[in-house]
Amino acid sequence: MIIPVKTNASNYEVHLGENILEDFSKRNKKKLENYDQLIMISDENVWNLHESYVRKNFTAPFNLFLVPSGESCKTFESYFNVQSFLLQNGASRNSAIFALGGGAVGDLIGFVAATFMRGIDFYQIPTTILAHDSSVGGKTAINHPLGKNMIGAFYQPQEVIYDVHFLKSLPLSEVKSGMAEVIKHSLISDSEWVEEFFQITSLSNLEKDQLLQWINKGIRVKAKIVEMDEKESNFRKYLNFGHTYGHAVEAAIGYGKISHGEAVMIGMIPALLLSEKYGQLPKGFAKRFYSLANRLEYNFEQILDCPFEQLAAYMQKDKKTINKQLHFALLETIGKPFIQVVPVDAVRLCDEELRQWIREGK
Ligand code: NAD
Ligand code: ZN
Repeated sequence: MIIPVKTNASNYEVHLGENILEDFSKRNKKKLENYDQLIMISDENVWNLHESYVRKNFTAPFNLFLVPSGESCKTFESYFNVQSFLLQNGASRNSAIFALGGGAVGDLIGFVAATFMRGIDFYQIPTTILAHDSSVGGKTAINHPLGKNMIGAFYQPQEVIYDVHFLKSLPLSEVKSGMAEVIKHSLISDSEWVEEFFQITSLSNLEKDQLLQWINKGIRVKAKIVEMDEKESNFRKYLNFGHTYGHAVEAAIGYGKISHGEAVMIGMIPALLLSEKYGQLPKGFAKRFYSLANRLEYNFEQILDCPFEQLAAYMQKDKKTINKQLHFALLETIGKPFIQVVPVDAVRLCDEELRQWIREGK
């Protein structure tokens, strides 16, 4: 499957399928030969799991550099180390970098590519479900001790090679994290698709073809919004559905202690409750969705340790907060997002309702 992505800066393709890495190498043989050097950058964990597959199927010669796995690679230190490696190995503006890993590696390497010698070609080889989202759209960043994703750039890859072969080794916690963003993409785009999730009872044994279809749809939703955003800057905010409250939960519990997707899944409940109030979402949908999230083993209890005041403080600090007003992506109906300014007190009421459900049990 090929999904085109059009942005102001460039047009590129996401290639999606199983065992497509070899095809990439063959299809791009000439282009790859024209670079003076290819550098593969991965995280230690991903490389340990997939070295033999990559060496077998990525047939062009490359230099390898490994960074710490997960969020801990999005630091100034890793950024510096990768730049040093590139310089020490004589990389030039005519070299290309490959980011093999989840969203963290993709964000780090995208930012390295954007800034090394003022920009060199890079390719994304995502290895998590979550990265169906992060590898498309060109947002790149590292973290500052004072805030996540605070230092970054918009920089588009040459191509995204999404080989679902890599997903086989994903632990359930990462499946849950990534599926939260897939489900988010369904909520902001397609009510029939949302109903498919109500049919499943667990995320632990997802059927391969089904997952491929969902990732395909998710990438298309993201690509379409990124494309529309050229004309109207509000569209991209729709992708923030569940994230205003979710980011606050993530920050309050602590990055790394809760996955991004789990925090987003939690954040979608207040967003759905607010959609019942400000949009036309049928009353009771948020509760029904909460039951689904529980069945899929998202852990809501952890927010009971975070007082609402703490979450509210994080929400007001969010990059996307304008003049201290909370701008929420909400749903007019399922599949029809809009942006609404919401007073903190209205969020407080939804937060209380959610906490009540959690205390009552599932
Ligand atoms: P990640 O890259 O931190 O990976 C999570 C964990 O899974 C790591 O320990 C990693 O080693 C492991 N892993 C990766 N692939 C694996 C595989 N195939 N098998 C087994 N383990 C594997 O996390 P993520 O969830 O992919 O991405 C989260 C990051 O993405 C965050 O830093 C977030 O800020 C960023 N993000 C960026 C955007 C964007 O638009 N740029 C959007 C959403 C999220
Ligand atoms: Zn997200």
